[in-house]
Amino acid sequence: MIDPMRRLRQDPNSETEGSPRESSFQERVEHAAEAALKRNGSVGPLELFQEMRLLQPVHVEGWRKGNEYYRTLQPWIQVGPDKFQKTIRHFQEWVKQHGLRPIEATYTHRGPQGIEQLQVTEDGDPEWEKFYRTHYAPADLPEKKTAQLAAKLNRPPELVVFEKVSDEGNCSECGAELPQGAYLLMEKGQPLCLTCADLDELVFLPAGDAALSRRAHKHSSLAAVVVRFNRRHKRYERQGLLVTEDALARAEDECAADAPARAVARARAAVAREEEDREFVAALAEAIAQRYPACPPEEARQIAEHTGHRHSGRVGRSAAGRALDAHAVDLAVIAHIRHTHTKYDELLMRGTARLDARALIREGIDRVLAKWSGA
Ligand SMILES: [Zn+2]
Repeated sequence: MIDPMRRLRQDPNSETEGSPRESSFQERVEHAAEAALKRNGSVGPLELFQEMRLLQPVHVEGWRKGNEYYRTLQPWIQVGPDKFQKTIRHFQEWVKQHGLRPIEATYTHRGPQGIEQLQVTEDGDPEWEKFYRTHYAPADLPEKKTAQLAAKLNRPPELVVFEKVSDEGNCSECGAELPQGAYLLMEKGQPLCLTCADLDELVFLPAGDAALSRRAHKHSSLAAVVVRFNRRHKRYERQGLLVTEDALARAEDECAADAPARAVARARAAVAREEEDREFVAALAEAIAQRYPACPPEEARQIAEHTGHRHSGRVGRSAAGRALDAHAVDLAVIAHIRHTHTKYDELLMRGTARLDARALIREGIDRVLAKWSGA
């Protein structure tokens, strides 16, 4: 393990060991490390910083996709030297305490010239680069699972083509204009048109048909993922694939051949989802009745069905669990009261601003809630 003090000056005002603030910060680090480990099966410094919200996933994604703004990642880790040092120390202690096993990951970007190593630090210090690449996984993970994890952490990245969201810019090689909507590849921070990137023979397959996409990708000797940056949600969204014409034709044939079998599988899945939805509605109606014993049963049922409808098809275990906690139950009940027991909809229709309308009906909602709670 490396010494975080080596390169970072010690802050003389740093909190002393064992102080309440120090121990709560330690807990924050440990909780974040645990959460990241649980979700991903392993945790490294970059995952830890993201979990602690000291590093935005959008920056990591941009860096991994070879976006020009992210030559290195360290400047995007938003933490002062003192906190940085403490985060690393607590993380390393936590790793030791749990006897986790290191697994090295690679951070690479696939450009037209092949795979390029991505650098986290500004100066590329090998020891620090290794520190950032090192993930930790449970030591008792079965050998097969460990191998799968190592493969996942070292999987070469996909070739990524960006759909342009701004309307200015030119290909850095041939100078061709790259208007909004144009496809381009980033190479060493410079945009390349698809012709210069030798990708212009590929055809675009829009996202949407999972089986067709998977097969076309598999058969295509050269393939790229097309992404577009969504400014409002600050993330890259997959638009589809660029694949060879041959691969697409072969995938279409395969999909046509087993379409009936896949239709049967889809129908089975739909039945299972419906069953899940029904169970969810019953459980939510029950949760409402427990929290609001005086709520008329038919209204509890109505609220549950309405909520179930909104969640339909994506209920799942965790979403259902979330929708059944007390706060979510309250939100569903309040929404129902707002629309059925107050003049809220009428106020909105008359042009009252949403927040004003909410203020006007607050008392009415509280009255119904109190009555239903049996208070
Ligand atoms: Zn060009």
